[in-house]
Amino acid sequence: MDIQNTIQTLRAELDQHNYNYYVLDKPIISDYDFDSKLKQLQDLENEHPEFFDENSPTQRVGGAITKNFQTVPHQHRMYSLDNSYSKEELIDWEKRIQKVLGDVPLEYTCELKYDGASISITYENGKLKRAVTRGDGFQGDDVTNNIKTIKSIPLQLKGNFPATFDVRGEIILPFAGFEKMNQDLIEIGEVPYSNPRNTASGSLKLQDSAEVAKRPLDCLLYFLIGNNLPFQSQFEGLETARNWGFKAPKEAKLARSLKEVFEFIDYWDIHRHNLPYETDGVVVKVNSFHYQDELGFTAKSPRWAIAYKFKSEQVATKLNSISYQVGRTGSITPVANLEPVQLAGTIVKRASLHNADQIEKLDIRVGDTVFVEKGGEIIPKIIAVDLTKRPENSEPTKYITHCPECNTQLVRSEGEANHYCPNFYGCPPQIIGRIQHFISRKAMDIEGLGGETVTLLFNNGLVHNYADLYELTVEQILPLERMAQKSAENLVKGVENSKNIPFERVLFALGIRYVGETVAKKLAKHYKSIDALSQATLMDLILVDEIGERIAKSVIDFFENQENVIIIDRLKVYGIQFEITEKINLNATNKLAGKTFVVSGVFAKFSRDDLKKAIEDNGGKVGSSISAKTDYVVAGDNMGPAKLDKANKLKILIISEDDFMNLINLTDASTD
Ligand code: AMP
Ligand code: ZN
Repeated sequence: MDIQNTIQTLRAELDQHNYNYYVLDKPIISDYDFDSKLKQLQDLENEHPEFFDENSPTQRVGGAITKNFQTVPHQHRMYSLDNSYSKEELIDWEKRIQKVLGDVPLEYTCELKYDGASISITYENGKLKRAVTRGDGFQGDDVTNNIKTIKSIPLQLKGNFPATFDVRGEIILPFAGFEKMNQDLIEIGEVPYSNPRNTASGSLKLQDSAEVAKRPLDCLLYFLIGNNLPFQSQFEGLETARNWGFKAPKEAKLARSLKEVFEFIDYWDIHRHNLPYETDGVVVKVNSFHYQDELGFTAKSPRWAIAYKFKSEQVATKLNSISYQVGRTGSITPVANLEPVQLAGTIVKRASLHNADQIEKLDIRVGDTVFVEKGGEIIPKIIAVDLTKRPENSEPTKYITHCPECNTQLVRSEGEANHYCPNFYGCPPQIIGRIQHFISRKAMDIEGLGGETVTLLFNNGLVHNYADLYELTVEQILPLERMAQKSAENLVKGVENSKNIPFERVLFALGIRYVGETVAKKLAKHYKSIDALSQATLMDLILVDEIGERIAKSVIDFFENQENVIIIDRLKVYGIQFEITEKINLNATNKLAGKTFVVSGVFAKFSRDDLKKAIEDNGGKVGSSISAKTDYVVAGDNMGPAKLDKANKLKILIISEDDFMNLINLTDASTD
């Protein structure tokens, strides 16, 4: 097969796997095999730039930067939808339709109303050509580069499609992905996003498409528009779109009467809480295109469609007090303490108030009766105050000026929504939070020590910073609450073992603001030691791939602080890894020459990529599937049963990651 053919075959294969995974939710190959194929394609494309294709699956990782999004007109106007809030309004709507169409039997397509940002995407000859935001409905912003990174949007269509047409869909951020993004933010001491919808719509306008690629966005399709569409109704359109490769949610239903529409509404009013994404209503559309044409549009919206909004679940309750929490990086979060009340199946006692502006905007006061709503977020929010119930002596809320924990005057940097307590080294929740971060799983992973014990250690004056952990003795810990000999010993042992944690994780553990896991890896790889990193200038840092000014400044600040320097010097003395050691660097050997490995499952000490790299660096080959040519299978947790079976049948050696480390003499320092 010639190169061009191979490239095309790989592209088609990868497109199909993307579709299986992101649209059907039914992958048929492992992530690892997918990555191998993608890498193979990437290599071929690098070697043969003449076969470049802007719609190749390799382009999904993004990288294109858009400084100014171009405004472009919509080929077909993007209308909004009329809203309705009751079944009576829907009955009236049907009456209006029948006035135009006469008393004909009507069918309706019922869909969920997805809560995100709408997008219009033009396809030409089956290829994604351009994606434009709704804008004012007549023209929007060209966000093609960003949209291409969303994996449930096909870059290349399948089947028989017209030469050119537009699709309309909603870009959403499913709850799970949204929560994950927020956890990552909290991990680096950032303020989490407030809701999935704004985050989704903000994502479309990010300048760096690689950043968009990292966000777990999804696109749910609800409409096609163009000449020569090979179907005559909305419902058929959705089905056809599915065959072409789009994600058109299966929840959509054809209703043969308004009664069936109501059934759909009643069903989803309850079951929407189990959906993986947010919906705030149902959209009802006259199914037949013929009738749609006859009905036409008002100035703003189609007459043949209407949105039915679910009543959002709200309750009124009393605001008893406002408390202020201090995070690990000193950021202050106001929290509303409410008179407990039942809402959407749970008892609500607290609600998020976000920040000072939010409190001021809604003029929320202690003693007020407030309306609380539960959206997609875990913690409910206050949406309004019932002014009719405001007590007479009520006073506007004065936001705190001093830290509730250490009484230091708060600061608020320009452009930031949150107040901060600047007493980083003397404010208890900040100290405790930093130590808790230091010991957490992705950081130093100290076994035998949990978050509550850290608080206990701090409150008993045994630790004031994370370096102090390394001086703890069993005798000191034993007198603490609920501490037995065994657990005290485990704690000390866990601390001792953390001295083997590699530099990149140590760097993450230090808790430098904005230095999350990925950034820590980048910096560790680039500078190789804490000494080199601490010497870096702002300019040096900014020149490192993916390190922006904000991170660079924060790193500089960290090392300019004498307290940090002292703590790091102490950690060095205790033997913490402050450079990339030979061991981790996996110096190339030839120990594995002539051997083929297959890697399967999840590993504790390596990422799959690192393991693969270790094999190659030591002269071995990595195979993508088990065959008679395989010498070893390196098996982690959750290795697939089919693979296990195959390896056993072929009598291939199955080894653990520790066995593998032995093979290349990379034993854990704890065992040598
Ligand atoms: P509105 O913004 O309230 O005028 O509502 C119209 C918007 O609802 C459209 O622009 C779409 O972005 C969005 N929408 C969400 N789900 C659907 C759906 N199933 N059909 C049509 N529009 C939808
Ligand atoms: Zn404080």
